[in-house]
Amino acid sequence: GQCRVFCPTGAISIKSDKDAVWDALADPNVRVVAQVAPAVRVAVGDAFGLPKGRSVMGKIVNVLHRMGFDEVYDTTFSADLTIMEESAEFLDRVKNGGKLPLLTSCCPAWVKFVDNQFPDFKEHVSTCRSPQGMMSAVVKEYFREPENGKGKTTVMVSFMPCTAKKMEAERPDSYTKGEKDTDYVITTTELIEMIRTTGIYFADLDSEASDIPFGFGSGGGVIFGVTGGVTEAVIRRLAPDHDKATLEEIAECGVRREGFIREFSVPYEGMEIKVCVASGLANAKKVMEQVQSGEKEYHLIEIMACRRGCIMGGGQPRLAGERTKNARTQGIYNADSVSVVKKCNENPMITSLYEGFLKGKEHELLHNHR
Ligand code: SF4
Repeated sequence: GQCRVFCPTGAISIKSDKDAVWDALADPNVRVVAQVAPAVRVAVGDAFGLPKGRSVMGKIVNVLHRMGFDEVYDTTFSADLTIMEESAEFLDRVKNGGKLPLLTSCCPAWVKFVDNQFPDFKEHVSTCRSPQGMMSAVVKEYFREPENGKGKTTVMVSFMPCTAKKMEAERPDSYTKGEKDTDYVITTTELIEMIRTTGIYFADLDSEASDIPFGFGSGGGVIFGVTGGVTEAVIRRLAPDHDKATLEEIAECGVRREGFIREFSVPYEGMEIKVCVASGLANAKKVMEQVQSGEKEYHLIEIMACRRGCIMGGGQPRLAGERTKNARTQGIYNADSVSVVKKCNENPMITSLYEGFLKGKEHELLHNHR
């Protein structure tokens, strides 16, 4: 059964779904599908004696297959989907006089913060689901087709750096056809516990590739794990070129600058797009108050509730000093450096999804219905 851990003050209750996941893995009538978020891969290795911050995605895929997961997909794939949709939404708002600034929607703690603290800005929040939400909706829909589903029910498990993702999975506006898409959310710390339970010597595992058709994301998808990543991926998407010089120029535009509030502008088709990237809710509050008072004007605001972004999420191993934080950030940027495809719209799995079974279902599967 499920084990519930309650906060002594009763203010929060965080469920651990590990037991339910083990039960699903043991059930032959259930297809258990995993998705692994970008920030998870750089925070697991050091628990098993590997260097801090090194991406161990290939080993995570291997260990999940050994645990019995039928499919292991990569949330960087659906981060690409998020950028496809969010950049289209952004351009639509710019060109057609929609609500600006556009506020990013992939961090559930931030979305909740807007609802509570800045309700006048609710309509500014992008309607895009988060990468977790998009992946689960697409996977569930894919296996609803009888030739893919083969009579099994599908249980979707997401491995996240984040405790707020548990709440996001329960948010009815993120359901498809009235049903929850993400069945269980397992944090990085819980994943480490699950790996320990198996007794497998993680450090020695070979790397395995994620499964097709949802197992491949671009470099733009992987940088979602750090603050500024979403924005950088959007700028890449909007840039007409993809050569090295263009990518370097984008990286230097201010989006990777030090600090928890970064302001900069990027030229786009004769206009200057004004951007603010902030992490940490206290910083988000500062930014929003300035926007509210008219002191500052932006077209796009990216907020991550955790300072430095998801690499420092509430579901990540907590003993993280400066060295660990920097190593995780570096690990994410390295994962981008080694990826051949840098832009979501150049990911062949993304283009074939849009041309294939996603056609006509984009709104239903990829957007919140708030
Ligand atoms: Fe979760 Fe923090 Fe990432 Fe927001 S920034 S999605 S709260 S880990």
